[in-house]
Amino acid sequence: MGVGQVNDSASAVEILRPAERILVFTGAGISTESGIPDFRGPDGLWTKVDPDDLHIDRYRANPELRRRGWKMHLDGELWGARSSVMPNLGHHAIKRLADHERLAGVVTQNVDGLHHKSGLDADLVAELHGNVRESLCIDCGRAWDTEEILGWVEAGDLDPACPECGGIVKTATVMFGELLPDREMAKAMQFLAIADAVLVAGSTVAVWPASDVVMRGALLSLPIVIINQGPTEADHLAAIKLDAGIGEVLPEIVDGVLAVSRR
Ligand SMILES: [Zn+2]
Repeated sequence: MGVGQVNDSASAVEILRPAERILVFTGAGISTESGIPDFRGPDGLWTKVDPDDLHIDRYRANPELRRRGWKMHLDGELWGARSSVMPNLGHHAIKRLADHERLAGVVTQNVDGLHHKSGLDADLVAELHGNVRESLCIDCGRAWDTEEILGWVEAGDLDPACPECGGIVKTATVMFGELLPDREMAKAMQFLAIADAVLVAGSTVAVWPASDVVMRGALLSLPIVIINQGPTEADHLAAIKLDAGIGEVLPEIVDGVLAVSRR
């Protein structure tokens, strides 16, 4: 039938209702409603940080960059435990799908951990671009809670090295020039294998290979519902597209999906 362009939550409910389990694919658009500016927006990270500085080679080579990064984490500017950013209506609506066992899993491009903060079981979230909760040594792979590293930074070690091997430590987020974590991609594929529908919430589905999850859903003939302000790369694949804020329409859609399925 092609792409619906109207804000028609009822049609989205019709499409999603028969699905026993829904895979939800989220991007920056769900987090902006928690006050996290889109990277590319007027207050976004790109106004404070040169994207080239987020390349793993520069991070390796430049201690000044690493010190600046840890300082930003310490100041709560990068969405970790030190940040006051909280999940919003959209995250909570997705959590309700899980509470009713209607969620195949969340595949997210976000590193802010807001799906976890909403109470969603970690097993149900695939963080394709990593997360800021954990940090790791890029040489030996040892991992820590980022909080522990921030404790070292607070104590005066502004560019902490790995105590095991002396290697460089970074948060477990995927920088430019790095591969996506295999484990998270595998998890996403497991969600896809048990999903009966795909709901895109706040992503332009433009960043590969994360976008592959949605494209594969289409190849499997799963119905695709997209909620996003502005066009996406997957609009032509969608059974319906809602050009709306997530918090504006998702709670209502989840209500609809759950109400008619209650036995
Ligand atoms: Zn190490």
